Amino acid sequence: MKLRRPVIAGNWKMHKTVHEAEGLVKDLILELPDVSNTDVVLCPPFTALYRVAELVSKTSIRVGAQDMHWEKEGAYTGEISATMLRGVYCRYVILGHSERRQYFGETNQTVNRKAKTAMAANLRPIVCVGETLEQREKQDFKAIVRSQVIESLDGIPADQSGELILAYEPVWAIGTGRNATPAQAQEVHALIRSILVEIYGVKQAKKVRIQYGGSVKPANAAELLSQPDIDGALVGGASLEARGFAAIVRAAS
Ligand code: PEP
Repeated sequence: MKLRRPVIAGNWKMHKTVHEAEGLVKDLILELPDVSNTDVVLCPPFTALYRVAELVSKTSIRVGAQDMHWEKEGAYTGEISATMLRGVYCRYVILGHSERRQYFGETNQTVNRKAKTAMAANLRPIVCVGETLEQREKQDFKAIVRSQVIESLDGIPADQSGELILAYEPVWAIGTGRNATPAQAQEVHALIRSILVEIYGVKQAKKVRIQYGGSVKPANAAELLSQPDIDGALVGGASLEARGFAAIVRAAS
């Protein structure tokens, strides 16, 4: 039995029209009729959030967004606020995904602002961290992950930390088919846990869930999820197909 309740999130990225999303969610509900000991979160594109939330409303599945803005409202063309996400029944939001860092200028500082705004709006942030291949090869990855965690969580008080979810996603493992080995992932998850102990103390640090992400699939999920500090998975490609995603959820539960 895991100390922390596992949380499996599907990041659909820029995939699925509303119509396609309906089909995937209906299939998923049939595949997962009885999940009770794992949190399951679907993160479709903004355009499908409302419909997906409607479809899962009578199930234990929850809905999350893939990003949001840090301001409450205003002249920020193209952006979406935390209140808007709450208005379409979102409970979670992915922040600082490596694709947002790589292509859209996301930094630890913007992630930090977004995380604080999300928490104030009762959205659970899934804060993504992880090193590039170059950083791993140069043995810089521990320092990189350390600064990502510390800067992204700056100023988030200990009494709110239980609501946080972190996702360790080595960039070299995302969408490549090459997952971190369970030992490589556990090493970084333990490091993240020790950083959380420094920030929040042992009792609170034990409550924070840390997901692994990067080429998680049915064949490797159980072994990754059996590691002591791996409390769930953030799943990209394999979340676009109901049977595979359901198998990953079952591996966690
Ligand atoms: C992701 O984008 O968060 C991810 C982990 O992708 P994939 O599972 O496809 O590697």
